[in-house]
Amino acid sequence: MAHISIWEKESFFAPKDVLIAGSGVVGLWCAYYLKKSNPKLSIAIVDRGIIPTGASTRNAGFACFGSVTELIADTLKMGEDKMIDLVEMRYRGLKRIRKVFSDKEIAFEESGGYELISEAQDMDINVLRSNIDWLNHKLKPVIKKEKAFFLDDHLITRFGFGSTRHLIQNRLEGQLHSGKLCQALLRLVQSMGVTVLNGIEIKQFETVNGRVELQTNHDFTLQAGRLLVCTNAFARQLLPELDIEPARGQVLVTSPVDNLKFSGAFHYDEGFYYFRNLGKRVLLGGARNRAFEEEKTESLLLTDTIQQELERFLREVIRPAGDFTIDYRWSGVMGMGPEKMPVVKQVSDQVFCAVRMGGMGVALAPWVAEKMARMMLDA
Ligand SMILES: Cc1cc2nc3c(=O)[nH]c(=O)nc-3n(C[C@H](O)[C@H](O)[C@H](O)COP(=O)(O)OP(=O)(O)OC[C@H]3O[C@@H](n4cnc5c(N)ncnc54)[C@H](O)[C@@H]3O)c2cc1C
Repeated sequence: MAHISIWEKESFFAPKDVLIAGSGVVGLWCAYYLKKSNPKLSIAIVDRGIIPTGASTRNAGFACFGSVTELIADTLKMGEDKMIDLVEMRYRGLKRIRKVFSDKEIAFEESGGYELISEAQDMDINVLRSNIDWLNHKLKPVIKKEKAFFLDDHLITRFGFGSTRHLIQNRLEGQLHSGKLCQALLRLVQSMGVTVLNGIEIKQFETVNGRVELQTNHDFTLQAGRLLVCTNAFARQLLPELDIEPARGQVLVTSPVDNLKFSGAFHYDEGFYYFRNLGKRVLLGGARNRAFEEEKTESLLLTDTIQQELERFLREVIRPAGDFTIDYRWSGVMGMGPEKMPVVKQVSDQVFCAVRMGGMGVALAPWVAEKMARMMLDA
């Protein structure tokens, strides 16, 4: 970039009270809650992409809080309390999204969520029933409904699925348009006076006299009273001590298909596979568990291993009786850790972070952001 003018220095790049690194859903929701609680705060959000380029505009748009096999696996790994806490954060987050934005604005559909149990999984029906009952009982105080999950096998034939033995329904889930959600959030925070800057990468930062100075990929620095790192999978660039690693998620979308028999958000195999209708198209993603090590990357390239596996799943399970062609393929990068709890903390007097959103960050983001805003304003 050429030398900056005094006008630019005193407006776009002027020192701010808070500088947020990363304009994915978490950075945007954090800006919203900070401004809502204290309208006088000057805030800038800085993203290295020309638009947010991590997970928020590249996900599947599920408005979900966890499928039965995933929540059971989470319970075994993290314990019952953390599993319930996570569901509560996601469930509250989903409600918050719909409180702030109209369904039309973000193309929210109350389409329901489902989980497929395949013939290959060979799950004992009694075990499945008792898992569903147990989860419904444990989640009742959180979702304030008698039942989140129930078995609905008769829908398998109606939806036209192959190789599927059981189907679990969850009427509390839905789907939205991820691009529209990010744009709506951007419009909202800008209307509140937040400065949004794109194409600026924060390379590193240091604290000087109680303020944060940020080196960028341009020949100017930025200054702020406080730095909030919301760069999720990429957070170790700025905070190398964090226990977080990238996990690429690959997606494909078919062309519109005749006679699509289902609508809704579908999970399979502990959430490692997920698909939904997008109008008359099928959006399918996941299969990361087929190449765990290869997918621990920040690269947005696609691989034959995953794309071929997704096509196999499409052919054998989703559309065994129909043709399809693929119109879109892409990938995004999630931030994962040894467990699914996000990292929402104060790192030093001036530096905070809200990262590691895992595979359900759309739902988590509003709750995480509200917590972070409170933490920063109380500090
Ligand atoms: C394929 C896929 C499918 C998914 N499906 C769903 C789903 O259906 N439902 C759901 O709830 N969740 C889903 N997720 C997860 C969800 O998208 C994420 O958890 C969520 O978007 C994380 O938001 P974030 O703001 O923390 O991170 P991100 O959206 O990744 O934002 C981080 C931002 O930081 C920027 N950045 C990075 N480093 C720097 C730097 N040094 N300086 C400046 N900017 C920087 C990046 O450009 C990026 O825009 C999916 C994720 C993927 C990848």
